[in-house]
Amino acid sequence: MYAKTSPKDVYHLLTKDEERTLCGLRVVGIIVDRPVNTSALHLTSQKPTACPLCQECANDREDDGNRDEAEPEV
Ligand SMILES: [Zn+2]
Repeated sequence: MYAKTSPKDVYHLLTKDEERTLCGLRVVGIIVDRPVNTSALHLTSQKPTACPLCQECANDREDDGNRDEAEPEV
């Protein structure tokens, strides 16, 4: 599951309990798999392809040793 705030924004990864993103945004009570025109955070079950991963989420994921794609080294 992934979380986004808007179609053109970055997307975020969720923690294991799916209550917040790796970078700390709360995702409780948001919309799943429904296009929205607000800035509210919402979930999507498919990986967004048209926008980059949130850098903070990327850093946290790398800390877990769970890389599944090429991300630029910082
Ligand atoms: Zn994030």
